[in-house]
Amino acid sequence: MNTTADAIAAIKKELGRDLCIMGHHYQNDAVIAHCDISGDSLELARRVPHIDAAHIVLCGVYFMGESASLLAREGQTVHLPEPDADCLMSAMIPVRLARRVLEQLALTGRDIVPVAYANSSLAVKALTGEYGGAVCTSANAEIMLAWAFRRAEGVIFMPDKNLGHNIANRLGIPENERHVLRIDGRGLIEPASQPLDRKLLLWPGACSIHARFRPEFVEQARSRYPGCRIAAHPECRQEVIALCDAAGSTSFLIREAARVAESAPGSALVIGTEENLVRRLAERHRDKCDIFPLSHAICPEMSKVTEEKLLNVLEGIAGNRSEPLRVAGNLFEPARLSLTRMLEVCGK
Ligand code: SF4
Repeated sequence: MNTTADAIAAIKKELGRDLCIMGHHYQNDAVIAHCDISGDSLELARRVPHIDAAHIVLCGVYFMGESASLLAREGQTVHLPEPDADCLMSAMIPVRLARRVLEQLALTGRDIVPVAYANSSLAVKALTGEYGGAVCTSANAEIMLAWAFRRAEGVIFMPDKNLGHNIANRLGIPENERHVLRIDGRGLIEPASQPLDRKLLLWPGACSIHARFRPEFVEQARSRYPGCRIAAHPECRQEVIALCDAAGSTSFLIREAARVAESAPGSALVIGTEENLVRRLAERHRDKCDIFPLSHAICPEMSKVTEEKLLNVLEGIAGNRSEPLRVAGNLFEPARLSLTRMLEVCGK
């Protein structure tokens, strides 16, 4: 008998409709098994405003909890099983530096709008809202960048340079119209030494999990699984994406696995993204096709959330002891603005 799973099930039963457990697809199977809603960051954000439960437990990294708090109804509380789980990429853009950079770009006289990837802190989302920009996820980055280019002559995309490059390739923005900013420890960009007049400026951040996939991994997969199809997440480097057969968000990769299972039974699909998700897809479709990870890639931050920690936070909620996540009052409105702009542009 798994006592942790049983204890979680008992608390879920006790709290009933007062509780909703949400989990990101990169969570491990033991945690996902308890989730009422699972999804990528866009799906999770979309679902929050429609949840009636008094308590939302978000199994994911810190910025996901912050986004849920922003979109939750008044009186609802959001809890994280592991508040120390923080997206490594979001840590690459301290708001102090981001503000300094936006101030310097404004001084150039160019009309530049920021687009912040959802994998950023609440403070960066608030800054983005303050400067007239919006948030995006990997599922809608193309739509949101196109939206930003209709509003301004230039866009700064933060913080994932790889996603920025991959979306720029889809939108037909040539390399010589992009620039990865050089930013020093004080947030200075030295305008005289950088081509800030380019159409797309990129913050020099990346997901260290997806960025570890290299072009040779794709070549090795093709020789190990002859005839395989290879799909990867656009947080991978553009040189990797160029060699793949398909690329797209987490939800796209899930659909792609289902499509291959139905349309090409017996074939092999290699997926370049976080391994918990790839292993789950392999298990789900194991009767129809073979699914393999492009390489070992477990996000250590997502892995900090465990079934035991989920039980711990649920016991706290049931016992009225769990401290909910609190959003700093002054950040609330500008950050929510940047998130709701995304939901309005992409449809709720
Ligand atoms: S996989 Fe990368 S982007 Fe996703 S939470 Fe981990 S570090 Fe952040």
